[in-house]
Amino acid sequence: LVRLRERLSRSQSSLGRGLLALLGRDRLDEDTWEEIEDTLLAADVGVAPTQELVERLRTRIKVEGVADPARAKAILREELVALVDPSYDRAVAATGVDGTPGVVLVVGVNGTGKTTTVGRLARVLVADGDTVLLGAADTFRAAAADQLQTWGERVGVPTVRGPEGGDPASVAFDAVKTGKEGGYDTVVVDTAGRLHTKAGLMDELGKVKRVIEKQAPVTEVLLVIDATTGQNGLTQARVFAEVVKVTGIVLTKLDGTAKGGIVIAVQRELGVPVKLVGLGEGADDLAPFEPEEFVDALLS
Ligand code: GDP
Repeated sequence: LVRLRERLSRSQSSLGRGLLALLGRDRLDEDTWEEIEDTLLAADVGVAPTQELVERLRTRIKVEGVADPARAKAILREELVALVDPSYDRAVAATGVDGTPGVVLVVGVNGTGKTTTVGRLARVLVADGDTVLLGAADTFRAAAADQLQTWGERVGVPTVRGPEGGDPASVAFDAVKTGKEGGYDTVVVDTAGRLHTKAGLMDELGKVKRVIEKQAPVTEVLLVIDATTGQNGLTQARVFAEVVKVTGIVLTKLDGTAKGGIVIAVQRELGVPVKLVGLGEGADDLAPFEPEEFVDALLS
């Protein structure tokens, strides 16, 4: 977690520094508030959350004043943490019910970091002492199943895969069946993310989920979003949320953008918490998302 703060502050601190510099001005006139608003919007915080934050800051600063920069920073910190919403449960639901394995379905557009996330999540679960099985339900790209299997070998967990071009739902079914029969704690299923037709995606993901649930309840649906894609990422999030009930967000490539406000925007868009963040390409560059750590990274 120390690493989360360090790694994030390197990419994210310009937002916090910009806001602190503006709030530290002698006179907070209309132009300054507009600059504060622009700074938040430029960091992908989103229109509604930006307006809320600015309102809250204006009210508090009017009432409490900002006698010194430390106080301004404390107020900004409190309001940012509130905006990121610490009340969400951010644990990944990887434990099964009634003797079945936990089933984590990982969805998202190709290239966002789905397969990498499955591999790294498996690594975290194994480190926690869980037995894990991977399901390669992206049958459209042979390379995707290979890549997943490579992750599996690296982490020391088996991968269930099907023939190239085969039915993704049948691979997902086999994986969860094998997981159940083998007494595994968790099955993590990678899916295909072709967005070319929404109807096709809907049919496919819906079927994958339905078929899995003949074996065991899906305990978590993680939507992977690439933080560097901004508004595009939000549009994708909306499409997926219409297709499956997303229960958590994984925001990858936060190391590659200064626009960390996307955390706030995407949570607000889906009403679902960011549970994990990707901070690099390495095997251990997946971290649990902690609102306070995140805000401290912004303000460091
Ligand atoms: P998929 O097509 O959605 O399964 O995406 P992949 O898992 O193959 O990832 C696509 C690329 O993004 C790969 O080069 C990954 O190494 C890279 N990637 C994934 N997560 C992160 C991250 O958190 N940070 C960075 N910098 N790169 C990432």
